[in-house]
Amino acid sequence: MLKTTGVAQKEDWQAKLPPEERRKAGPYVVYECYQKIPCNPCEKSCPFKAVTIGEDINNIPRVDYDLCNGCGVCIARCPGLAIFVVDETYAPGYGKVLIPWEYLPVPEKGSEVTAVGRDGKDVCRAEVVEVRTARNQDRTVVIGLKVPVDLVNEVRGIKLGGEDNGR
Ligand code: SF4
Ligand code: SF4
Repeated sequence: MLKTTGVAQKEDWQAKLPPEERRKAGPYVVYECYQKIPCNPCEKSCPFKAVTIGEDINNIPRVDYDLCNGCGVCIARCPGLAIFVVDETYAPGYGKVLIPWEYLPVPEKGSEVTAVGRDGKDVCRAEVVEVRTARNQDRTVVIGLKVPVDLVNEVRGIKLGGEDNGR
């Protein structure tokens, strides 16, 4: 399905998650990079050397979850917008998802947006709890979304302005 629709299915993205024990221990990165392509800025960007591509630049990145602390530095370095950080321990009943954002306007911290899934369809309302705009992110913004904890791995984007916008 991924090859024909371009949208990762549950079995695709579930294979990218760390073990349950690690998911409950704090923020973790999710690399939704599914196909071999000549690309490796993620490997070079990680300050903790948690990502390995190796000799062949076409390799799919592998994450060492003992080294990844979910800092999110790699998110803005990925030209494919394929990297997310998920925190299932954020608050009682809520998780946080860090996503890359390369459109205008940039949503403000504290605003409410519609969170969407990999297919662009509405998933839930979300509060913007973080907006990272560091100079070294080269104008890719990283946005933190507070969402119900059971939806942290469904939410992978946003649309602005409420349910009637973005169609
Ligand atoms: S989230 Fe931070 S520690 Fe984890 S892979 Fe990305 S840069 Fe490395
Ligand atoms: S930078 Fe992004 S697209 Fe490139 S290999 Fe890493 S995760 Fe995949």
